[in-house]
Amino acid sequence: GDTPRWSGQEERIFVSVRVRPLNEKETASHDVFDWECINNNTIRFKHTLPDRAMFPTAYTFDRVFGTDIPTKKVYEEGARDVALSAVSGINSSIFAYGQTSSGKTYTMTGITEHAMTDIYDYIDGHKEREFVLKFSAMEIYNEAVRDLLRSDGAPLRLLDDPEKGTVVERLIEVTLRDWKHLQELLAVCEAERKIGETSLNETSSRSHQILRLTIESSAREYTGAANSRTLAAQLNFVDLAGSERTSQTLAAGTRLKEGAHINRSLLTLGTVIRKLSKGRTGHIPYRDSKLTRILQNSLGGNARTTIVCTMSPARSHVEQSRNTLLFANCAK
Ligand code: ADP
Ligand code: MG
Repeated sequence: GDTPRWSGQEERIFVSVRVRPLNEKETASHDVFDWECINNNTIRFKHTLPDRAMFPTAYTFDRVFGTDIPTKKVYEEGARDVALSAVSGINSSIFAYGQTSSGKTYTMTGITEHAMTDIYDYIDGHKEREFVLKFSAMEIYNEAVRDLLRSDGAPLRLLDDPEKGTVVERLIEVTLRDWKHLQELLAVCEAERKIGETSLNETSSRSHQILRLTIESSAREYTGAANSRTLAAQLNFVDLAGSERTSQTLAAGTRLKEGAHINRSLLTLGTVIRKLSKGRTGHIPYRDSKLTRILQNSLGGNARTTIVCTMSPARSHVEQSRNTLLFANCAK
């Protein structure tokens, strides 16, 4: 229906899991399909492992998407409500979490396209308001923030603004002319991200990408107090670094450890999300990483958040898939 399932419980994070099909390599090496989606909410391990007693075999989430579910449906059931809340002035974030090659970029790219189509449709259907959309894009690698719309690769500083909170200094914000303009910018970001990948080892698996849409609107004509408000919100599409290095720590809830091999942003995000899911009591360590500082206003508080956790169904990835499910369990 039209009623967001968040009604009355806005702070909750919507958590879904998406299983991709076996890929060619997995099929060629006769890997086994280890997981089954037994209904829209539950995923279960199909086989018996020696350590079965230590982990649950079945996991329940807001939504589980099997291999036959197209991205459009993943978007509609897992992200649309959150994306559209940004047009009515509510900051929102959509995350893809999972190990490298589990389908994060595939899923997030599709979700971004569908969300943008919906947002432009919404704008077309609400001629009584004037909308201004602005786009910016950044990448966080080793706690350095880089502008994906700028090719000099220079790291950007984070500043504290008394009104706006954390601001990324010099981040380019482009006012969008139309849908085609956005497509062009998305292509620029993708190319820029690929350049980073070749110059730094494994960037794509270790970096976070944030595509940010700022949506502002105001009534063209005053027709009463109800429509007179100017609305502004950010919508963030976040394609996270591969979870393989940190997932064990995240799932176990262990304290943040120092070290170059630890992805501070991913670990801190895990801690923040776990705390938010427990009802926002006590200190939430947004300031411990660049990712969580940048997203602070769009994560928790009055913001809406959805996470799509992606996983491979293969036997060869069972440890990582289980870590992803344990993480997803903590987030819900
Ligand atoms: P990640 O970003 O998590 O490293 P990718 O999104 O790049 O993973 O996906 C790895 C590969 O698997 C890509 O070739 C992608 O096209 C394919 N893939 C991922 N998810 C799906 C899916 N649900 N259906 C079909 N192919 C997929
Ligand atoms: Mg990727």
